[in-house]
Amino acid sequence: MRNTNMSLNKSLKIRSYHFTGLLTFYYVFILNAALIFHAYLFIRQQESFVAALGLLLVFIVFICLLAWCLLSLCSIRWIEKPFFIILTNLSAILAYFYVYYGVIFYDNSPIVRAILQTDLHEMKEFLKPSLLVWVLFFGVLPSYLIYQIDIVRGHRKIEWIWKLLGVMCYPLFYIVTLLPTNPIFQPMLVLSGITAKPPYQIIPTNFFENVAKHLISSTHFHVPYRIIGSDATQQKKIPSLKPDLLVLVIGEAARSQNFSLNGYSRITNPYTTKQEIISFKNVSSCSTLTWVSVPCLFSGEGRGKFIPMMSNYQDNLLDIIKRVGISTFWIDNNGAGDCQGVCERIRHIILHDLDGMVAETFKHSISQLSHQDAVVVLHLHGSHGPDYFEKYPVAFSFFKPECRKNEFRLCSQQTLLNAYDNSILYSDYVLNNVIETLKQFSTHWNTALIYTSDHGESIGEGNRYGHGMPYFMAPKTQTQVPFFIWMSDGFRDEKKLNVQCLENKANHESISHDYFFHSVLGVLNIKTSIYQPKLDLFKSCQTPLYKQQLSLRKS
Ligand SMILES: [Zn+2]
Repeated sequence: MRNTNMSLNKSLKIRSYHFTGLLTFYYVFILNAALIFHAYLFIRQQESFVAALGLLLVFIVFICLLAWCLLSLCSIRWIEKPFFIILTNLSAILAYFYVYYGVIFYDNSPIVRAILQTDLHEMKEFLKPSLLVWVLFFGVLPSYLIYQIDIVRGHRKIEWIWKLLGVMCYPLFYIVTLLPTNPIFQPMLVLSGITAKPPYQIIPTNFFENVAKHLISSTHFHVPYRIIGSDATQQKKIPSLKPDLLVLVIGEAARSQNFSLNGYSRITNPYTTKQEIISFKNVSSCSTLTWVSVPCLFSGEGRGKFIPMMSNYQDNLLDIIKRVGISTFWIDNNGAGDCQGVCERIRHIILHDLDGMVAETFKHSISQLSHQDAVVVLHLHGSHGPDYFEKYPVAFSFFKPECRKNEFRLCSQQTLLNAYDNSILYSDYVLNNVIETLKQFSTHWNTALIYTSDHGESIGEGNRYGHGMPYFMAPKTQTQVPFFIWMSDGFRDEKKLNVQCLENKANHESISHDYFFHSVLGVLNIKTSIYQPKLDLFKSCQTPLYKQQLSLRKS
């Protein structure tokens, strides 16, 4: 028996550089198999079969070298076994998300954020039986082999030479991929619609990059709190005028192209279509992620200057509104549960229900508002995937058959789209309920509603699902969002707003989330030095100014 064990151990003996080589082979050809396959499909679209194979070969050699450099650097006696076991299991998880969701592991992707912040609620959405089976095969099984083998050290000098080569080659390879003029890697930078720079996509390169980034960003520096718009004042109205009640609704993963208000062939907005809605057709979001877009909407910095990490250390739109004496209230049903920090300093309530409850809660909350100007934010669960079917009641399953599974790839694109459209339809019903409530209360208030979504969504187009792709490479499905305004007659008249002017803007101008902050400030008559009139949708449509512009154009 003892002899058998000894011979087994003997047969599992392996030299350290052979071990690194085998590990490199496993990472490249097994864990990166989907990436290589996508690369081939992409290159094949542009090149002949032979040229595509040639380019693919170069690509494979490149990622082999990149992986080998990194793995040989980490091959350090005493710690290499536990290190590679952990790395292999984590890499198996990354490969799973790439294959199943088309998710690239980078610091802003939802799953990475969920893992790094141990957000159990978000992580729960990703824990599926297929993940367990996958990790068992591609993580645990190779880990067992790593555990069993006996790594024999080679000559110390040779080992150090290999490591030194790795240290020198890795940055070199990295730089080569980023060269914009590189003729070989450029086509691969836009690999088959899963576009990203190779280091972002290759396992385990992306893992190391993101851990390093996270360590740097989580190093806590003392950041002094920044008060924004400290000079803000609200222009007082004549006491006989009704107070304003402005409702800001933030949707979830609703994309513009699936709104019949914006020309979608399916009737997904049957309720709000009957209201006097001004729907902006060309609106880009601040980001493709909830945790970036939501604070960005309420920050006056706009997409170009907004830094997500800083948003918790400074005032936002609601702080300014509250400071000038307007009452504020936030009703959150988004699921992330914390309104992304935006409602921290104002009165808020967190729900975990279907969005219909948001409209109900809003209706009841109006009676608690004092009779003065008020801003209420409703943060919906909207159309968050992959389980779109769980975002609406059965009575709203209008488009059939719908996907009723928790994983994107277990359903056809059409059934997913049906479920997604049902969720848009249900949001439309909820929004309409809120508008009806506002109509009821418009004898006492001048009421208005602004709706937009935090970002869009991919539903299998180009093999992409969900959202969260880096903005520079995200498809329009993830960045083009709905944005509409509803106003009571009293609100429109008091603000002297020209509806035709707003409709012209909505149909012909391209706007972005950057307009949200300044439009809200402007329409509430809040004066502050940070207000930018050019980003106020209402300003140029206020009657005296609009008339002035018309006469200028005529003359
Ligand atoms: Zn979102």
